[in-house]
Amino acid sequence: MASLRGPRLLGVTVLAGVLAVSCGGDETGSAPLSGGGQSRRLRLVTTVAPITSIVANVAGDLADVTGIVPEATNSHTYEPPPSAAKVLAKADVIFVNGLKLEDPIQQLAEGRLGKQAQIVELGDATIGSEEHIYDFSFPKEQGKPNPHLWTNPPMAKEYARVAAEALERGDPVHAAGYRANYQRFAAKVDELDAAMARATRTVPKPHLLTYHDAYAYFARHYGWKVIGAIQVSSFEDPTPKEVADLIGQVKAEGVPAIFGSEVFPSSVLAQIGRESGVRYVDVLRDDDLPGEPGQPEHSWLGLMRFDFITMVKSLGGDASALEAVTVENTAPDRATYPQ
Ligand SMILES: [Zn+2]
Repeated sequence: MASLRGPRLLGVTVLAGVLAVSCGGDETGSAPLSGGGQSRRLRLVTTVAPITSIVANVAGDLADVTGIVPEATNSHTYEPPPSAAKVLAKADVIFVNGLKLEDPIQQLAEGRLGKQAQIVELGDATIGSEEHIYDFSFPKEQGKPNPHLWTNPPMAKEYARVAAEALERGDPVHAAGYRANYQRFAAKVDELDAAMARATRTVPKPHLLTYHDAYAYFARHYGWKVIGAIQVSSFEDPTPKEVADLIGQVKAEGVPAIFGSEVFPSSVLAQIGRESGVRYVDVLRDDDLPGEPGQPEHSWLGLMRFDFITMVKSLGGDASALEAVTVENTAPDRATYPQ
């Protein structure tokens, strides 16, 4: 897999402002955060649901977490409503994916942030630009790398570690609690990662054709091959010539299934499936959590386990190692998910 950036690089970019939070009040005039005798809970704002879940697993019941990107929306083109400005203005820490996924949200946040508030770009803290992947859906000339680091378990674990470090510094009274929450989450990520590595060895041809191009870093980690993604960078349908090429490619590769996305129903992918005689599995998701808020599977872990089992089984592999991973939120998940 691609190597992760070391902890030293992370600390510098992320934490200076958060540190300041612990010794002063915020602009709303409420009590100082922990460290000054009286304490109040950190207000954390996040963006897409899997990142909200990762941060919520680290925060547990020690801080308040509010996600602002509704599930089942296109997070790549999401424009926050004016009401989001209020939530952002009250945040102590805003956790975003970065890699330019949430530019409109960051723009809205800038200028409205409280004095000590901090934006933490989890993806940018996890890998450097030399590890960015550009591809069909995220072409280099448009300057936006593929942002889906969280579908790769070791990178998701690093998101959690960066988040834990920010919370420990911003709320030092509860540092041990955040650390323990992180360690419990990290152990589950490792378990899922090992199970996926085992399951991968049973897949005759771990080749992926997806609609939405969310598995580039996942594929690099597990040695899967992304044979293509249908969705062009404008989020419109591909041309008839591109569709014809993909049908030829699917036939040549001999894969038994191709994958669509819950968030982006695709008649084109259904057509490719029909015309190339392979099964079209339309249930993968990259930022829409399964189940309902409050249920264990409504979590990053539930999401990835579901996707991995779907991929492995649809391609003729044995998913029993993944099915043996129990899904739970490793810390009480009190995040607010927008509907
Ligand atoms: Zn996506």
